Amino acid sequence: MKALVLEEYNHFVYKDVETPLPGPGEVRVRVMACSVCGSDVKGMDGSTGRRQPPIIMGHEAAGVIESVGEGVKGYKAGDRVTFDSTIYCNTCDMCRAGVINLCDHREVIGVSCDDYRHHGAMAEFVVVPEYVLYRLPGNVTYQQASMVEPMSVAYHGVTRCEVPVGGSAMVVGVGTIGLFVVQILKSLGVKQVIAVDIAPKRLDMARKNGADATVDSTAPDADEQVLALTGGKGVDAAYDATGLESTVLMCTRLAKLNGSVVLIGNIAKEMKFPLQYVVTHQLSFFGSCASAGEYDKCLELIAAGKVDVDAMISGSFPLEEGDKWMHKVYNREDGLDKIVLIP
Ligand SMILES: [Zn+2]
Ligand SMILES: [Zn+2]
Repeated sequence: MKALVLEEYNHFVYKDVETPLPGPGEVRVRVMACSVCGSDVKGMDGSTGRRQPPIIMGHEAAGVIESVGEGVKGYKAGDRVTFDSTIYCNTCDMCRAGVINLCDHREVIGVSCDDYRHHGAMAEFVVVPEYVLYRLPGNVTYQQASMVEPMSVAYHGVTRCEVPVGGSAMVVGVGTIGLFVVQILKSLGVKQVIAVDIAPKRLDMARKNGADATVDSTAPDADEQVLALTGGKGVDAAYDATGLESTVLMCTRLAKLNGSVVLIGNIAKEMKFPLQYVVTHQLSFFGSCASAGEYDKCLELIAAGKVDVDAMISGSFPLEEGDKWMHKVYNREDGLDKIVLIP
């Protein structure tokens, strides 16, 4: 089969590789669309240590089952599917508790690190276990379905805490995940969603995708703007989809008394923590890691037209031109952000 292989850092080659065979309990999916994750783009230069060459990247994909391995019961060739990016063990304590995203033996498709190498979906075919599959509703396209993985990360984050339906929320950082957080909060009926970012273009996108108000965080009175929008009280829940000390602190300052802060982004490894403020305002902090099987809920929202996935894709391109497009996204050229590669 043809695949886009990261042969050395910053260099992809589209070439023939051996077609993977589905083992017992596995299926072989003909990839119809594979969207490119920020972690793929960051990973290509070696800075994260999680895309060590040679590796076929790609963990956000959808396609049609081409063949099934021994013992596969629930799926057959021809089924349209997407799949969880995490391969989990189903037997450890976390898996048994349904917290599959924290599985002791977790492997992510399309990742190679010191512990494992698991080839991904930037290829004609990818092999995955049956238990990570999700069926696509008839009206959901492969391209839309390739966005369910990042959407599920946002869904998981949104549902880490409860926002009162009549309540308010703020989302700091409206890249792909943050924009999904905005859309999902609105689809779940949250009354007021405020999007915050440094980029006017992203704030524009947020407004088009349901944000009730936007605030440019580079404005000297950004905090005051959020307070003015919330009757001086702050928001019920503040979501940080960026992960810098400054964004976490902004969420902390602008969550209302007894409110919640959900941490999804994690660029900074450490930060100073305003202990006394957090205690005296009785704030709750929630870490949110990847997703834990919220794919069906996301597919339902897309099928029902409650979340607009297409608006968030900046372009789709042939997989064989992958090297060129990955570099363009890496260098932030042509306004490209979220792209989809088509094998
Ligand atoms: Zn991803
Ligand atoms: Zn496990």
